[in-house]
Amino acid sequence: MTHIQLEAYGRKWQRRLALGQWQIAWELVAGKQVTPDGSTGEVIWTLDALKATIRVATIQEPEAILNTARHELLHLACADIDAHAENIITRLDSAAARGIATAAMDNAQEQFILRVERALTELIDHGD
Ligand SMILES: [Zn+2]
Repeated sequence: MTHIQLEAYGRKWQRRLALGQWQIAWELVAGKQVTPDGSTGEVIWTLDALKATIRVATIQEPEAILNTARHELLHLACADIDAHAENIITRLDSAAARGIATAAMDNAQEQFILRVERALTELIDHGD
């Protein structure tokens, strides 16, 4: 998988997900993970500037690299929701409550993205 292939795939899905207003930098990261917790991809964004960096681990099957790239784009598609939730969560009184709310939001978002991914994979497998 080359950087050019990753970028081309990323651009295609950026358009499909109507994320064209975002300026996205794509990075292939040598290794099996991009974060200490073992994630194979991550997206870091600045909502106000509509800029994002998507990092994907290189030591994966080529198809897995692309799936990771698409997964991170789906997270980016949730950036607005994430920002609104964070805005509300920061108003909670205790650190414990903020921690619980953040974990619940992160989990809900991940589950939603996994659902959408399964649906997209089914469509791709059918050539749609
Ligand atoms: Zn995720």
